[in-house]
Amino acid sequence: MKITVAGAGAMGCRFGAALFEAGHHVTLLDGWREHVTAINEAGLRVTDATGTRTLAVPAVLFPEPSHPAPEPSHPAPEPSHPAPQPSQPAGPADLVIVFAKATATAAVAAAATATGAIGPSTLVLTLQNGLGNIEALLAHVPASRLLAGTTTLGTELLGPGHIRALGSGETVLGPLPGAGGVATEAAERIALALHGAGISVRTASSALEVIWAKVAFNCVMNSLCSIASIPVSALARFGRFDELAASVLDEVAAVARAEGVTVDTAAALRLMHAQFDPSASGDHLASMLQDLMNGRPTEIAHLNGAIAARAAARGVDAPVNTTVSRLIGLLEATWAKRVNRLHPEAP
Ligand code: NAD
Repeated sequence: MKITVAGAGAMGCRFGAALFEAGHHVTLLDGWREHVTAINEAGLRVTDATGTRTLAVPAVLFPEPSHPAPEPSHPAPEPSHPAPQPSQPAGPADLVIVFAKATATAAVAAAATATGAIGPSTLVLTLQNGLGNIEALLAHVPASRLLAGTTTLGTELLGPGHIRALGSGETVLGPLPGAGGVATEAAERIALALHGAGISVRTASSALEVIWAKVAFNCVMNSLCSIASIPVSALARFGRFDELAASVLDEVAAVARAEGVTVDTAAALRLMHAQFDPSASGDHLASMLQDLMNGRPTEIAHLNGAIAARAAARGVDAPVNTTVSRLIGLLEATWAKRVNRLHPEAP
Protein backbone atom coordinates (compact mmCIF):
# COMPACT_ATOMS: atom_id res chain seq x y z
CA MET A 1 0.00 0.00 0.00
CA LYS A 2 0.96 3.60 -0.51
CA ILE A 3 0.75 5.13 2.96
CA THR A 4 1.23 8.72 4.11
CA VAL A 5 1.65 9.38 7.81
CA ALA A 6 0.35 12.90 8.40
CA GLY A 7 1.89 14.19 11.61
CA ALA A 8 4.96 12.04 12.07
CA GLY A 9 6.10 12.61 15.64
CA ALA A 10 6.74 9.71 18.02
CA MET A 11 3.71 7.60 17.13
CA GLY A 12 3.53 8.54 13.46
CA CYS A 13 7.15 7.47 13.04
CA ARG A 14 6.51 4.25 14.96
CA PHE A 15 3.61 3.19 12.75
CA GLY A 16 5.38 4.51 9.66
CA ALA A 17 8.52 2.53 10.50
CA ALA A 18 6.60 -0.70 11.11
CA LEU A 19 4.65 -0.40 7.84
CA PHE A 20 7.82 0.59 5.92
CA GLU A 21 9.64 -2.48 7.26
CA ALA A 22 6.68 -4.62 6.19
CA GLY A 23 7.25 -3.45 2.59
CA HIS A 24 4.68 -0.67 2.19
CA HIS A 25 5.50 2.60 0.41
CA VAL A 26 5.49 4.98 3.35
CA THR A 27 5.91 8.76 3.32
CA LEU A 28 6.19 10.73 6.55
CA LEU A 29 4.60 14.17 6.40
CA ASP A 30 5.50 16.53 9.24
CA GLY A 31 5.83 20.22 10.06
CA TRP A 32 9.03 20.09 12.16
CA ARG A 33 11.82 21.08 9.76
CA GLU A 34 14.77 19.68 11.78
CA HIS A 35 12.99 16.34 12.14
CA VAL A 36 12.19 16.05 8.43
CA THR A 37 15.73 17.11 7.50
CA ALA A 38 17.27 14.56 9.90
CA ILE A 39 15.13 11.74 8.49
CA ASN A 40 15.96 12.61 4.89
CA GLU A 41 19.67 13.08 5.56
CA ALA A 42 20.40 10.23 7.96
CA GLY A 43 17.28 8.02 7.96
CA LEU A 44 14.69 7.44 10.67
CA ARG A 45 16.41 5.95 13.73
CA VAL A 46 14.26 3.51 15.71
CA THR A 47 15.47 2.36 19.12
CA ASP A 48 13.75 -0.56 20.85
CA ALA A 49 14.67 -3.50 23.08
CA THR A 50 16.67 -5.04 20.21
CA GLY A 51 18.87 -1.97 19.62
CA THR A 52 18.81 0.89 17.12
CA ARG A 53 18.18 0.56 13.41
CA THR A 54 18.02 3.18 10.66
CA LEU A 55 15.30 3.18 8.02
CA ALA A 56 15.36 5.10 4.73
CA VAL A 57 11.76 6.32 4.98
CA PRO A 58 11.18 9.47 2.92
CA ALA A 59 9.86 12.50 4.80
CA VAL A 60 8.13 15.60 3.45
CA LEU A 61 7.86 18.98 5.18
CA PHE A 62 4.35 20.41 5.44
CA PRO A 63 3.58 23.43 3.40
CA GLU A 64 4.26 26.32 5.77
CA PRO A 65 1.35 28.74 5.33
CA SER A 66 2.58 30.88 8.23
CA HIS A 67 5.67 31.84 6.16
CA PRO A 68 4.31 33.56 3.04
CA ALA A 69 6.36 33.50 -0.14
CA PRO A 70 8.81 36.45 -0.20
CA GLU A 71 8.19 39.40 -2.47
CA PRO A 72 10.31 39.10 -5.67
CA SER A 73 12.28 42.25 -4.67
CA HIS A 74 13.18 40.66 -1.30
CA PRO A 75 14.73 37.30 -2.04
CA ALA A 76 14.56 34.80 0.82
CA PRO A 77 17.74 34.55 2.90
CA GLU A 78 19.73 31.34 2.58
CA PRO A 79 18.52 28.81 5.15
CA SER A 80 20.97 28.20 7.98
CA HIS A 81 20.78 24.46 7.33
CA PRO A 82 19.91 22.55 4.15
CA ALA A 83 16.21 22.37 3.43
CA PRO A 84 14.73 18.88 3.26
CA GLN A 85 14.89 17.56 -0.28
CA PRO A 86 12.46 14.68 -0.34
CA SER A 87 10.37 13.75 -3.31
CA GLN A 88 6.84 15.01 -2.74
CA PRO A 89 4.32 12.19 -2.24
CA ALA A 90 3.23 11.42 -5.80
CA GLY A 91 -0.53 11.39 -6.03
CA PRO A 92 -3.05 10.14 -3.53
CA ALA A 93 -2.20 7.52 -0.93
CA ASP A 94 -4.22 4.36 -0.33
CA LEU A 95 -4.11 5.17 3.36
CA VAL A 96 -3.37 8.36 5.32
CA ILE A 97 -2.68 7.80 9.01
CA VAL A 98 -3.16 11.03 10.95
CA PHE A 99 -0.95 11.08 14.05
CA ALA A 100 -0.60 14.75 14.94
CA LYS A 101 -1.48 15.97 18.41
CA ALA A 102 -5.23 16.61 18.56
CA THR A 103 -4.51 20.35 18.67
CA ALA A 104 -3.01 20.11 15.15
CA THR A 105 -5.40 17.69 13.45
CA ALA A 106 -7.19 20.30 11.35
CA ALA A 107 -3.91 21.83 10.13
CA VAL A 108 -2.36 18.44 9.41
CA ALA A 109 -5.42 17.21 7.53
CA ALA A 110 -5.41 20.41 5.46
CA ALA A 111 -1.71 19.83 4.68
CA ALA A 112 -2.37 16.20 3.68
CA THR A 113 -5.13 17.40 1.37
CA ALA A 114 -2.92 20.17 -0.04
CA THR A 115 -0.13 17.71 -0.91
CA GLY A 116 -2.68 15.54 -2.73
CA ALA A 117 -2.22 12.64 -0.31
CA ILE A 118 -5.97 12.45 0.39
CA GLY A 119 -7.56 11.54 -2.93
CA PRO A 120 -11.03 10.33 -3.96
CA SER A 121 -10.50 6.77 -2.73
CA THR A 122 -7.98 7.31 0.09
CA LEU A 123 -8.80 5.80 3.48
CA VAL A 124 -7.95 7.98 6.47
CA LEU A 125 -7.19 6.49 9.89
CA THR A 126 -6.85 8.34 13.19
CA LEU A 127 -5.55 6.63 16.33
CA GLN A 128 -4.99 9.94 18.15
CA ASN A 129 -6.11 10.67 21.68
CA GLY A 130 -8.98 12.97 22.52
CA LEU A 131 -12.27 14.21 21.12
CA GLY A 132 -12.65 16.35 18.01
CA ASN A 133 -10.24 14.56 15.67
CA ILE A 134 -13.04 12.84 13.80
CA GLU A 135 -14.95 16.09 13.34
CA ALA A 136 -11.81 17.81 12.00
CA LEU A 137 -11.08 14.97 9.57
CA LEU A 138 -14.65 14.78 8.28
CA ALA A 139 -13.95 18.13 6.58
CA HIS A 140 -11.48 16.26 4.35
CA VAL A 141 -12.87 12.74 3.96
CA PRO A 142 -16.39 11.23 4.03
CA ALA A 143 -17.40 9.03 6.97
CA SER A 144 -17.35 5.95 4.73
CA ARG A 145 -13.57 6.35 4.28
CA LEU A 146 -12.69 7.48 7.81
CA LEU A 147 -11.54 4.85 10.31
CA ALA A 148 -10.77 5.64 13.92
CA GLY A 149 -9.57 4.01 17.08
CA THR A 150 -6.91 4.01 19.75
CA THR A 151 -3.53 2.53 20.54
CA THR A 152 -1.83 1.80 23.83
CA LEU A 153 1.61 1.50 22.25
CA GLY A 154 4.02 3.95 23.88
CA THR A 155 6.65 5.83 21.90
CA GLU A 156 9.05 8.69 22.66
CA LEU A 157 10.61 11.18 20.29
CA LEU A 158 14.23 11.30 21.47
CA GLY A 159 15.21 14.07 19.06
CA PRO A 160 14.93 14.97 15.39
CA GLY A 161 14.69 11.74 13.37
CA HIS A 162 14.98 9.42 16.37
CA ILE A 163 12.23 7.53 18.23
CA ARG A 164 12.22 5.00 21.05
CA ALA A 165 9.50 2.34 20.73
CA LEU A 166 8.38 1.24 24.20
CA GLY A 167 7.00 -2.19 25.10
CA SER A 168 3.87 -3.69 23.71
CA GLY A 169 0.34 -2.44 23.40
CA GLU A 170 -2.91 -2.96 21.56
CA THR A 171 -4.37 -1.02 18.66
CA VAL A 172 -8.12 -1.07 18.09
CA LEU A 173 -9.83 0.46 15.06
CA GLY A 174 -13.23 0.49 13.49
CA PRO A 175 -15.66 2.38 11.28
CA LEU A 176 -17.81 5.30 12.38
CA PRO A 177 -21.39 4.45 13.34
CA GLY A 178 -23.58 4.15 10.27
CA ALA A 179 -20.63 4.30 7.86
CA GLY A 180 -21.75 1.08 6.20
CA GLY A 181 -20.28 -2.26 5.17
CA VAL A 182 -17.61 -0.71 2.96
CA ALA A 183 -16.08 0.99 6.00
CA THR A 184 -16.25 -2.25 8.00
CA GLU A 185 -14.40 -4.07 5.21
CA ALA A 186 -11.86 -1.24 5.04
CA ALA A 187 -11.25 -1.54 8.78
CA GLU A 188 -10.58 -5.29 8.37
CA ARG A 189 -8.20 -4.59 5.49
CA ILE A 190 -6.23 -1.95 7.39
CA ALA A 191 -6.12 -4.13 10.51
CA LEU A 192 -4.63 -6.91 8.37
CA ALA A 193 -1.94 -4.54 7.07
CA LEU A 194 -1.09 -3.41 10.62
CA HIS A 195 -1.00 -7.01 11.80
CA GLY A 196 1.35 -7.81 8.94
CA ALA A 197 3.59 -5.02 10.21
CA GLY A 198 3.84 -6.66 13.63
CA ILE A 199 1.31 -4.42 15.36
CA SER A 200 -1.10 -6.17 17.73
CA VAL A 201 -4.48 -5.06 16.42
CA ARG A 202 -8.19 -5.85 16.50
CA THR A 203 -11.25 -4.28 14.95
CA ALA A 204 -14.27 -2.93 16.84
CA SER A 205 -17.77 -2.52 15.48
CA SER A 206 -17.86 1.14 16.53
CA ALA A 207 -14.82 3.41 16.76
CA LEU A 208 -16.66 5.81 19.06
CA GLU A 209 -16.96 3.50 22.07
CA VAL A 210 -13.24 2.72 21.84
CA ILE A 211 -12.29 6.39 21.59
CA TRP A 212 -14.53 7.45 24.47
CA ALA A 213 -13.14 4.70 26.70
CA LYS A 214 -9.61 6.05 26.11
CA VAL A 215 -10.82 9.64 26.59
CA ALA A 216 -12.27 8.61 29.96
CA PHE A 217 -8.94 7.05 30.93
CA ASN A 218 -6.92 10.08 29.82
CA CYS A 219 -9.28 12.62 31.43
CA VAL A 220 -8.33 11.04 34.76
CA MET A 221 -4.77 9.79 34.41
CA ASN A 222 -3.24 12.49 32.20
CA SER A 223 -4.87 15.38 34.02
CA LEU A 224 -4.37 14.21 37.61
CA CYS A 225 -0.74 13.23 37.00
CA SER A 226 -0.18 16.65 35.40
CA ILE A 227 -1.86 18.69 38.14
CA ALA A 228 0.07 16.81 40.83
CA SER A 229 3.29 16.59 38.73
CA ILE A 230 3.73 12.91 39.53
CA PRO A 231 4.37 9.67 37.65
CA VAL A 232 1.48 7.22 37.28
CA SER A 233 2.90 5.05 40.09
CA ALA A 234 2.45 7.86 42.62
CA LEU A 235 -1.28 8.06 41.94
CA ALA A 236 -1.50 4.41 42.96
CA ARG A 237 -0.41 5.37 46.46
CA PHE A 238 -3.12 8.01 46.89
CA GLY A 239 -5.80 6.48 49.11
CA ARG A 240 -8.70 8.51 47.70
CA PHE A 241 -7.83 7.92 44.05
CA ASP A 242 -11.04 5.99 43.21
CA GLU A 243 -13.23 8.76 44.62
CA LEU A 244 -11.33 11.44 42.70
CA ALA A 245 -11.34 9.41 39.48
CA ALA A 246 -15.08 8.74 39.78
CA SER A 247 -15.83 12.47 40.03
CA VAL A 248 -14.22 12.93 36.60
CA LEU A 249 -15.47 9.67 35.08
CA ASP A 250 -19.14 10.12 36.00
CA GLU A 251 -19.24 13.38 34.07
CA VAL A 252 -17.45 11.87 31.07
CA ALA A 253 -20.00 9.05 31.02
CA ALA A 254 -22.90 11.51 31.27
CA VAL A 255 -21.65 13.54 28.29
CA ALA A 256 -20.98 10.37 26.30
CA ARG A 257 -24.51 9.16 27.09
CA ALA A 258 -25.90 12.48 25.82
CA GLU A 259 -24.03 11.75 22.56
CA GLY A 260 -25.35 8.19 22.35
CA VAL A 261 -22.15 6.46 23.49
CA THR A 262 -21.78 4.18 26.51
CA VAL A 263 -18.73 4.58 28.75
CA ASP A 264 -18.20 1.75 31.23
CA THR A 265 -16.81 3.68 34.21
CA ALA A 266 -16.07 0.52 36.24
CA ALA A 267 -14.03 -0.88 33.35
CA ALA A 268 -12.20 2.45 33.02
CA LEU A 269 -11.29 2.35 36.72
CA ARG A 270 -10.09 -1.26 36.42
CA LEU A 271 -7.86 -0.26 33.51
CA MET A 272 -6.34 2.53 35.59
CA HIS A 273 -5.58 0.15 38.44
CA ALA A 274 -3.90 -2.18 35.93
CA GLN A 275 -1.64 0.72 34.88
CA PHE A 276 -0.57 1.24 38.50
CA ASP A 277 1.37 -2.00 38.28
CA PRO A 278 4.97 -0.83 37.73
CA SER A 279 5.38 -3.58 35.14
CA ALA A 280 2.67 -1.82 33.06
CA SER A 281 3.38 1.90 32.93
CA GLY A 282 3.73 2.72 36.63
CA ASP A 283 6.81 4.93 36.32
CA HIS A 284 5.63 6.48 33.07
CA LEU A 285 5.13 10.25 32.89
CA ALA A 286 1.75 11.13 31.37
CA SER A 287 2.05 12.71 27.93
CA MET A 288 0.26 15.83 29.20
CA LEU A 289 2.86 16.26 31.93
CA GLN A 290 5.61 15.74 29.34
CA ASP A 291 4.02 18.43 27.16
CA LEU A 292 3.95 20.85 30.12
CA MET A 293 7.57 20.09 30.96
CA ASN A 294 8.56 20.62 27.32
CA GLY A 295 6.68 23.93 27.17
CA ARG A 296 4.36 22.58 24.48
CA PRO A 297 0.56 22.91 24.32
CA THR A 298 -1.30 20.00 25.92
CA GLU A 299 -4.30 18.14 24.47
CA ILE A 300 -6.50 19.36 27.37
CA ALA A 301 -9.00 21.06 25.02
CA HIS A 302 -9.65 17.62 23.52
CA LEU A 303 -9.93 15.83 26.88
CA ASN A 304 -11.47 17.43 30.02
CA GLY A 305 -11.91 20.68 28.07
CA ALA A 306 -13.93 18.88 25.40
CA ILE A 307 -16.06 17.23 28.10
CA ALA A 308 -16.73 20.66 29.64
CA ALA A 309 -17.59 22.21 26.26
CA ARG A 310 -19.82 19.35 25.12
CA ALA A 311 -21.52 19.24 28.51
CA ALA A 312 -22.32 22.95 28.26
CA ALA A 313 -23.66 22.50 24.72
CA ARG A 314 -25.92 19.63 25.82
CA GLY A 315 -27.08 21.04 29.15
CA VAL A 316 -25.15 18.43 31.18
CA ASP A 317 -23.35 19.42 34.41
CA ALA A 318 -19.59 18.91 34.33
CA PRO A 319 -18.07 21.15 37.04
CA VAL A 320 -15.18 18.79 37.82
CA ASN A 321 -13.99 18.49 34.22
CA THR A 322 -14.45 22.24 33.75
CA THR A 323 -12.23 22.96 36.75
CA VAL A 324 -9.66 20.32 35.79
CA SER A 325 -9.47 21.86 32.33
CA ARG A 326 -8.98 25.34 33.78
CA LEU A 327 -6.28 24.09 36.14
CA ILE A 328 -4.34 22.58 33.25
CA GLY A 329 -4.79 25.89 31.41
CA LEU A 330 -3.28 27.63 34.46
CA LEU A 331 -0.32 25.21 34.40
CA GLU A 332 0.20 25.78 30.67
CA ALA A 333 0.24 29.54 31.21
CA THR A 334 2.51 29.55 34.27
CA TRP A 335 4.70 26.44 34.03
CA ALA A 336 7.90 28.44 33.52
CA LYS A 337 7.25 30.22 36.84
CA ARG A 338 6.80 27.02 38.86
CA VAL A 339 8.47 27.01 42.24
CA ASN A 340 10.58 23.93 42.81
CA ARG A 341 12.48 25.10 45.89
CA LEU A 342 11.44 26.65 49.18
CA HIS A 343 13.78 29.61 48.67
CA PRO A 344 13.96 30.02 44.88
CA GLU A 345 16.08 33.18 45.13
CA ALA A 346 18.79 31.45 47.22
CA PRO A 347 21.94 30.41 45.30
P1 NAD B 1 4.64 14.02 19.27
O1 NAD B 1 4.67 15.08 20.30
O2 NAD B 1 5.76 13.05 19.26
O3 NAD B 1 4.57 14.70 17.83
C1 NAD B 1 3.52 15.57 17.49
C2 NAD B 1 4.05 16.65 16.58
O4 NAD B 1 4.91 17.51 17.30
C3 NAD B 1 4.87 16.12 15.41
O5 NAD B 1 4.52 16.87 14.29
C4 NAD B 1 6.30 16.39 15.82
O6 NAD B 1 7.16 16.57 14.73
C5 NAD B 1 6.14 17.66 16.61
N1 NAD B 1 7.23 17.83 17.57
C6 NAD B 1 7.58 16.95 18.53
N2 NAD B 1 8.64 17.43 19.23
C7 NAD B 1 8.94 18.64 18.70
C8 NAD B 1 9.93 19.62 18.96
N3 NAD B 1 10.83 19.46 19.95
N4 NAD B 1 9.95 20.72 18.21
C9 NAD B 1 9.05 20.91 17.21
N5 NAD B 1 8.09 20.00 16.90
C10 NAD B 1 8.03 18.89 17.63
O7 NAD B 1 3.20 13.31 19.36
P2 NAD B 1 2.87 11.77 19.64
O8 NAD B 1 3.35 11.43 21.02
O9 NAD B 1 3.30 10.95 18.50
O10 NAD B 1 1.28 11.84 19.72
C11 NAD B 1 0.45 11.83 18.56
C12 NAD B 1 -0.96 11.43 18.98
O11 NAD B 1 -0.92 10.08 19.46
C13 NAD B 1 -1.52 12.28 20.12
O12 NAD B 1 -2.91 12.39 19.99
C14 NAD B 1 -1.18 11.44 21.36
O13 NAD B 1 -2.03 11.70 22.44
C15 NAD B 1 -1.41 10.04 20.79
N6 NAD B 1 -0.71 8.94 21.46
C16 NAD B 1 0.61 9.05 21.79
C17 NAD B 1 1.24 7.97 22.40
C18 NAD B 1 2.72 8.01 22.72
O14 NAD B 1 3.21 7.10 23.41
N7 NAD B 1 3.49 8.95 22.24
C19 NAD B 1 0.52 6.81 22.70
C20 NAD B 1 -0.81 6.74 22.32
C21 NAD B 1 -1.43 7.82 21.71
